[in-house]
Amino acid sequence: MAPAHSAIILWFRRDLRLSDHPALSAAMRTGRPIVPVFILDDAVQALGAAPKWRLGLGLEAFAKGLSQIGSRLILRQGAALDVLESLIRDTGAGTVFWSRGYEPVSIARDTRIKSALTGQGIEVRSFAGHLLFEPWTIATKSGQPFRMFTPMWRAVQGRDVPTPEPGPARLMAPEGWPGSDQLADWQLGRDMRRGARIARPFIRPGEVAARDQLDGFLHRIDQYAEQRDRVDKTGTSDLSEYLSLGEIGPRMIWHRVQNAARTGAPGADAYLRQLVWREFAYHLMYHWPHLLTDNWKPEWDTFPWGTDPDTPEIRAWRQARTGIPLVDAGLRQMYVTGRMHNRARMIVASYLTKHLMTHWKLGADWFADCLTDWDPAANAMGWQWVAGSGPDAAPYFRIFNPQTQRVRFDPDEGYIRRWIAEGQARPEATALAYFDAIPRSWGLSPDDPYPEPVVGLKQGRTRALRAFESRKKPVRN
Ligand SMILES: Cc1cc2nc3c(=O)[nH]c(=O)nc-3n(C[C@H](O)[C@H](O)[C@H](O)COP(=O)(O)OP(=O)(O)OC[C@H]3O[C@@H](n4cnc5c(N)ncnc54)[C@H](O)[C@@H]3O)c2cc1C
Repeated sequence: MAPAHSAIILWFRRDLRLSDHPALSAAMRTGRPIVPVFILDDAVQALGAAPKWRLGLGLEAFAKGLSQIGSRLILRQGAALDVLESLIRDTGAGTVFWSRGYEPVSIARDTRIKSALTGQGIEVRSFAGHLLFEPWTIATKSGQPFRMFTPMWRAVQGRDVPTPEPGPARLMAPEGWPGSDQLADWQLGRDMRRGARIARPFIRPGEVAARDQLDGFLHRIDQYAEQRDRVDKTGTSDLSEYLSLGEIGPRMIWHRVQNAARTGAPGADAYLRQLVWREFAYHLMYHWPHLLTDNWKPEWDTFPWGTDPDTPEIRAWRQARTGIPLVDAGLRQMYVTGRMHNRARMIVASYLTKHLMTHWKLGADWFADCLTDWDPAANAMGWQWVAGSGPDAAPYFRIFNPQTQRVRFDPDEGYIRRWIAEGQARPEATALAYFDAIPRSWGLSPDDPYPEPVVGLKQGRTRALRAFESRKKPVRN
């Protein structure tokens, strides 16, 4: 038992919010002082340029939110266990709380820390909050984790999701605050270089902005089912970035959308289904951690994917100059805004893994560097799903055709005009912004002619199908 009045260290990670926060609510119920802390450890240092920069913006907003309720965000750098031990010495804290993470590296780290601190007589508790359902609570009738999305979606529909608790009006401060680093000194935006100035207007960080975004979306949820695939429309919720940093929790979204569903909003069910895709990704990562690093289906290990990141084709893909307008538009949207429409993510991923026959890991790594909504589980699952090596992938060899996708999901070419400057008499500001965001060393200009396809659609498709067919050939003795 921790001493009755000792402080509780609340270690924040991907849960930068005050409401719908079970660990914070539990800490509040004790009536003890709370020391909120964020630790810049190796896991945070390993983030790609855009998510790390976005994290910095989130921390700034979160620290402000804490200061408005009489608290502070203590920032410390180093190995998490060392930092926590030193904070325990500085504050006399007897307890450490955190919200659970599900990545293999977080699980390993947290398990080590829990055991070390418990051994020193410190009370350690972890809480739910990042997901709707803990991964070990959802299983098939035979007790196995779901390998397919649709049966999991059916299984969770009748489940209770705990009602989110409101955030506190005030947090009890400790008698004295421990020392803290300055956020600016961490330079979390360093790797973004020129891109930060261009992407900044597209980002509204923080919990308050996240709730505003949800409110705004609920006014247009009726059109969600119909418009969510249209790359030229604002049909989706744009909440992924907030969910990724935990500036909003999925339980709050679930309950607000359920309410909309009860009033008959037609898009609500389709939306909840997408939110459960996020759960599915997390449950897969929890049960099969190799989702992040290797083909989920090992039979794909023999597929002859290229792994050289420096071929002219792969460079063209990264630089959004493949000569396939919908592919380039998606990649440019990501570079300028930090996010990409889901339909475009599927198309650019399909072009890389099928037409360019390149390993999905190369694409997933590029996304991990460029997406402000980067999420380890959703990114890995998304790439493997498109590549064919993942769960729930089509039983046949699906190759998205960017030409037909363009006709269906960008019929007036509004998306392409928004993102491709070359060849346009009066390019849109967003299309020009791409050239201000990219490194100068790429040597690209909006006045360049738009390139010819690096690999033609027919040629790439034929090559990929041939590789798939030969992979399937039975081995003869
Ligand atoms: C190759 C690829 C990579 C991806 N990488 C990421 C990533 O790094 N981070 C990320 O959050 N999503 C990723 N996704 C999933 C999806 O593209 C985004 O979640 C979605 O575009 C976010 O926009 P939104 O919030 O407007 O989505 P909405 O359509 O409004 O959906 C609501 C929420 O549901 C969840 N969701 C929706 N679709 C999916 C999906 N297919 N998989 C998992 N969760 C989903 C997200 O949390 C999203 O915010 C990836 C998909 C693909 C195909």
